Amino acid sequence: MSINLPEGPGGPLAGVLAGLEGRLAEVVKEVRRLRGMVRELEEENQRLRNIILVDQSGSGGHEQLLHFYEEGFHVCPPQFARVRGNEGCLFCQSFLEKKGLKPHG
Ligand SMILES: [Zn+2]
Repeated sequence: MSINLPEGPGGPLAGVLAGLEGRLAEVVKEVRRLRGMVRELEEENQRLRNIILVDQSGSGGHEQLLHFYEEGFHVCPPQFARVRGNEGCLFCQSFLEKKGLKPHG
């Protein structure tokens, strides 16, 4: 008669547990990564909101675009409102120039 009892260290159960632990660690890592992403998106969202609020309180439409661009976002149609970071975007620049605006740098 044979019953499947959990075996000692190094047995199949230990292997299964080790596997689960590894998977769990991966899930935890993924959750952390997603949390970081959510935080970044929230910050970005806040920045966008601030920009929109600033824009509502004053200047005309075209300056808003320039402001938006200088805050580090794309204003060009293909990538509108995406994060531009510190890299210049030729599409944005020519888009702004067409509107008679000159981005600095
Ligand atoms: Zn762009």
